[in-house]
Amino acid sequence: MRLSCGPRVYSASKFETVTQRSSHHQQCLSNPRAPRHLLSINSPPFPVFKARFLLFISHTILLLSSSSSSPTMGINSLVSPFDAIIFDLDDTLYPSTTGIDRCVKRNIELFLIEKCGFSESKAAHLRVELFKTYGSTLAGLRALGYDITAEEYHSFVHGRLPYDSIKPDVQLRNLLCTIKQRKIVFTNSDRIHAMRALDRLGISDCFEQVICFETINPNLPNSTRPDEFPVLLKPSLDAFRIALDAANVEPRRTLFLDDSVRNIAAGREMGLQTVLALLFGYGMRLGVVHSQPTQPSKKLK
Ligand SMILES: [Mg+2]
Repeated sequence: MRLSCGPRVYSASKFETVTQRSSHHQQCLSNPRAPRHLLSINSPPFPVFKARFLLFISHTILLLSSSSSSPTMGINSLVSPFDAIIFDLDDTLYPSTTGIDRCVKRNIELFLIEKCGFSESKAAHLRVELFKTYGSTLAGLRALGYDITAEEYHSFVHGRLPYDSIKPDVQLRNLLCTIKQRKIVFTNSDRIHAMRALDRLGISDCFEQVICFETINPNLPNSTRPDEFPVLLKPSLDAFRIALDAANVEPRRTLFLDDSVRNIAAGREMGLQTVLALLFGYGMRLGVVHSQPTQPSKKLK
């Protein structure tokens, strides 16, 4: 794991290398005939994941507390490069080894079968295709004209998840409490799921704000037809604009952590400082990429 900030950043080619590695692993996972050693490579047992995650958070804290001299405050003044840190939730604040992600995917397929009438064999393929094209199954179904409310979808997909598999994480809580900057959660999940997961972890009071599905889709309940308002989710730049506006942060002085390469790329476009946290997903080894924005910071307000 390497950490850097300010002028000490990974190059674009480094970022692309990690992206390609992620893509390769996902291709392996989607291919049932892929050699098993490719699926399990660098996939340590849970205690090792846990130790690495805490190490990762610890390094983030070091990054947050890194100092620089200020001409107006004196050379000994400590000036953090960040005012706020924005965390993704699922597979970032808790590991994929809980099985929650796997259950979400299965529940989505059951929704397509039971509520939309698709066959078992069609549902799995459709879930993947709608995600690739529209960002989520809900977004795709509504764009295609299915009159499905977000509440109906989320209660079905998240309502039966095994939340007991998310355990209280005292060490994570203690580490989060040492971060003095503003801490915000930004998730595509609905508020009920987000709060249940954070409560199970025992860290819901560690965050100033939880930006979730309802925050970035405020007009959806008022729609008169399914395609009236597109469903916004990360990595949509419009979703980021609404989230950053709600958080009232300056992107260049905000650190954004997410396990999704696509979300990190979008965060870079928005001017955020980013950390790609490849901690638990797809059995990849721990990897963290820091990057500077590719564009000048955009003033949101
Ligand atoms: Mg995630």
